[in-house]
Amino acid sequence: MIRVNENYLKLKASYLFVDIAKRVSAFTEANPEKKVIRMGIGDVTCPLPPVCVKALHDAADEMGSENSFKGYGPEAGYAFLREAIAENDYRARGCKIDPDEIFVSDGAKCDTANIQELFSEDIKIAVPDPVYPVYVDTNVMAGRTGDNENGRYKGFVYLNSTADNHFVPDLPKEKVDLIYLCFPNNPTGATIGKEDLKKWVDYAKANKALILYDAAYEAFIRDESLPHSIYEIEGADEVAIEFRSFSKTAGFTGTRCAFTVVPKKVKAYTAAGESIDLNPLWNRRQSTKFNGVSYPVQKAAAAVYTPEGKAQVKATIDFYLENAKIIREKMTSLGFRCTGGENSPYIWVETGEDSWNFFDKLLNGAAVVTTPGSGFGSCGEGFIRISAFNSRENVLEAMNRIAAVLGKSYAE
Ligand code: PLP
Repeated sequence: MIRVNENYLKLKASYLFVDIAKRVSAFTEANPEKKVIRMGIGDVTCPLPPVCVKALHDAADEMGSENSFKGYGPEAGYAFLREAIAENDYRARGCKIDPDEIFVSDGAKCDTANIQELFSEDIKIAVPDPVYPVYVDTNVMAGRTGDNENGRYKGFVYLNSTADNHFVPDLPKEKVDLIYLCFPNNPTGATIGKEDLKKWVDYAKANKALILYDAAYEAFIRDESLPHSIYEIEGADEVAIEFRSFSKTAGFTGTRCAFTVVPKKVKAYTAAGESIDLNPLWNRRQSTKFNGVSYPVQKAAAAVYTPEGKAQVKATIDFYLENAKIIREKMTSLGFRCTGGENSPYIWVETGEDSWNFFDKLLNGAAVVTTPGSGFGSCGEGFIRISAFNSRENVLEAMNRIAAVLGKSYAE
């Protein structure tokens, strides 16, 4: 008898985006004349930088010629891309990361999902709340938790991110082995300073723990006091793996390219206490289960690091950040406390009421779609996430409509 992996049955069905879609389609059926503005999406709206498009075309031509055609490439990525990443994202910031510590992949989603395969089933895991759901669900699938009760899985240590701690979780009271952190954060848009990040690195060192640091939104950091990489903290290369992506940096959500940094000093331990290097383990995992990112896509990603690429990427991110500023200022002027939107494309708005009620109010009153915070975890209740990935025209229109719907009642 073929048996199912019953851990999958523990998963809370992903109602969030299904529920949003249902409510939006009910609204559009009832109001076919209204133009719905979608501010809930975490997907980019600007096209690829021209320099990346040119690199894709050129690489496609190379693939069409016998002399320059490429078959299977190195699983961990071509040297030209790994070197460009090491130089521009790390060495330029004083982080000693070598190209062979960088593993190119087709997404930070799959890397953050797959990395847990390297660890024992019985480790203690800390996850933020609210959270990017991939970290949670993949550990549920792997059998590291009990059932879901009231929105939380038994076995996890939840790290509450609330207004009280400025959405930067405190160190856990109990000992944990694996810690997921994400800054700038999805969904709260919060950032972490070097001092706070150092506390986590020190904790990991003291407890032989490992930090999985998701920096998918690093390109949105404009405050130069903030770390772009966890490796800006001394000693982090002994206790942290970092995930980055070209998705939000350069509009690669549909093109697919990302990378994971597994420093050679990072270790995990056997039950007997023997230390095992994770870099060769991840290399083994990737070369067994993954066949690399296509050559044209890696060429397009490498183009991001050229002078024109850097300028074009900066212009696009500046555009989203200006959207974010408009959203944050408008929501603040309407009387809402907001986080994020300064070094992040997400604005986390304290609604003062149930997340879904507020979502409905904006949908039905303003034809604007947001994301209810409760969908990201129980600490997200009472918040909505607004995304800055949109046209300027839509952002301004959405903010005017929201002000018209809510402005009066909040001015009273
Ligand atoms: N990590 C975070 C925090 C994200 O929000 C996302 C996408 O929304 C990803 C990773 C996935 O990135 P990628 O497109 O590289 O798979």
